[in-house]
Amino acid sequence: MPQILDGAAIAAAIKQDAKIEVEQLAAQGIQPGLAVILVGHVAASEIYVRNKVQSCAEVGLHSELITPPESVTTEEMLALVAQLNARDEIDGILIQLPLPAHVDAKRLLDAIAPEKDADGFHPINAGRVQSGRPALAPCTPAGVIEMLKRSKIEIAGKHAVVVGRSDIVGKPAAMLLLHENATVTLCHSKTKDLAAITRQADILVAAIGRPGFITSEMVKPGATLVDVGINRINTREEFDRFFKGNEKREAAFAKRGSVIVGDIHPAAFELSSAYTPVPGGVGLLTVAMLMANTVRAAKLRRGL
Ligand code: NDP
Repeated sequence: MPQILDGAAIAAAIKQDAKIEVEQLAAQGIQPGLAVILVGHVAASEIYVRNKVQSCAEVGLHSELITPPESVTTEEMLALVAQLNARDEIDGILIQLPLPAHVDAKRLLDAIAPEKDADGFHPINAGRVQSGRPALAPCTPAGVIEMLKRSKIEIAGKHAVVVGRSDIVGKPAAMLLLHENATVTLCHSKTKDLAAITRQADILVAAIGRPGFITSEMVKPGATLVDVGINRINTREEFDRFFKGNEKREAAFAKRGSVIVGDIHPAAFELSSAYTPVPGGVGLLTVAMLMANTVRAAKLRRGL
């Protein structure tokens, strides 16, 4: 039976560690603070932001939720970021994406002071991650590494194959795995004979955004499968392709009219030695790592 890498348990442990650090900082009169900016009313973003603010309370971080209207301009957002950059009690600044199309997201993300870049998206932090300097790494790939380490899955010397090369997941995941001494192959949509490469993976990280894209034929038996993908499916045909005969999922589908599936076909998990379920895997670590990053930002900024 494969080992299930339990995102909930690992996220709880990461948050507990962050909480202890927050208590230690409190003894020095420091309370790290996270500012979260949520523009407009995107339903999914509102849920994500609620989780983030709630997690801050659990860990003992100060948090501020700032909610500019949908009509906010890039200039107004830049002014807001500048204010937050200047405030000493704010250690982390997070702009919830996506932003309305008329707002220049790249310009805004670049305007966040790198030392307050809790999401780890700033090019300065990307460079620091690449060169192995102390950095705020993007939360999702940092969570993947935490997941593997805390589950005692050896990374050094293993062949890690990452499918997906986005700036927020695939590329930094490859870099962080390299720093852990894996031999890394980074694949993308132009990769030739992808299955021949994924079949070589001891650790396969899928960050593609296509439901069940990695099938059993693409997986080496005994591999560790890390599924970053979060895809909502809402047709019976798709449901049956992934979950036919799965009573628990059937009940969820009947209730909500949709279910979540990752980028790895659930049947492939059966071949693995360990895998991250979706939901309940990597997704839960992202918020936990945001808490860890905010504490880290508070310490780095004060030279602690
Ligand atoms: P992007 O769309 O930014 O990147 C997708 C990557 O997948 C691209 O590099 C693309 O290649 C590659 N790709 C697409 N099609 C193929 C293909 N047929 N073969 C090989 N590679 C392919 O997505 P993200 O990185 O932002 O997200 C990936 C997934 O992870 C999504 O499902 C997203 O919802 C999820 N996610 C989950 C998070 C969490 O907290 N768990 C956080 C962030 C994302 P190319 O560059 O050539 O186009």
